[in-house]
Amino acid sequence: MIVAIDGPAASGKSTVAKALATRIGMHYLDTGAMYRSIAFAALEQGVPLHDESAMGELARGVRIEFAYAGDASIATTVLLDGVDITAEIRTPRIDEAVSAAARTPEVRAAMVDRQREIASCTDTVMEGRDIGTVVFPHAEVKVFLTASADERARRRHSELAEHGDDTAADRVREGMERRDLADSSRKTAPLKPADDAIRLDTTGMSVDDVVDTIATYVADAR
Ligand code: C5P
Repeated sequence: MIVAIDGPAASGKSTVAKALATRIGMHYLDTGAMYRSIAFAALEQGVPLHDESAMGELARGVRIEFAYAGDASIATTVLLDGVDITAEIRTPRIDEAVSAAARTPEVRAAMVDRQREIASCTDTVMEGRDIGTVVFPHAEVKVFLTASADERARRRHSELAEHGDDTAADRVREGMERRDLADSSRKTAPLKPADDAIRLDTTGMSVDDVVDTIATYVADAR
């Protein structure tokens, strides 16, 4: 079974998808981490983000893996060619670069192949932007999470602050809105709800309430 959770930046996807996966005993896959890893590799290797063929080659050539702590279902570590880059992909530098890396069709094709392969033998809660529309259009449960721009900016700002990043709140909001615009206006696999996705506005909802709601849909679909 695939549970697809899509939505804009800081809509609560990761928190909700991880808690849901733990609750219902499924694996969890963060597809954003994969695009972040490609952006990181491009910056490190000096590959221009707009060079589509070089970016495609890069995406096909690197090895992205997720490492699990013990036998838990939630991957805690992201490895690029065997090197732990978990912290490096969560920085404003990568926030700025990732949408440009993710717009290239060849990059997306390589990532989508890998996402399907990872989920091929286990029930998976997969979060991203195009899971319900492109990666798994026949997913048994599709949810599109949203929240008001104010709430999303506040969440992203406090998440950054927790990691010692002191970027001002208005700059965080600008960056988030820029990224959502880039993601929703690109030609290939834009950020948008699948026609049959359940839309859930999480503004003012607790994580538990959101997880309870989605768990009900999963139980109905099982
Ligand atoms: O989910 P997260 O904010 O970490 O995603 C980072 C970026 O990766 C997004 O802004 C988007 O450009 C890209 N992405 C994507 N398709 C996905 C997941 C993420 O294009 N399925």
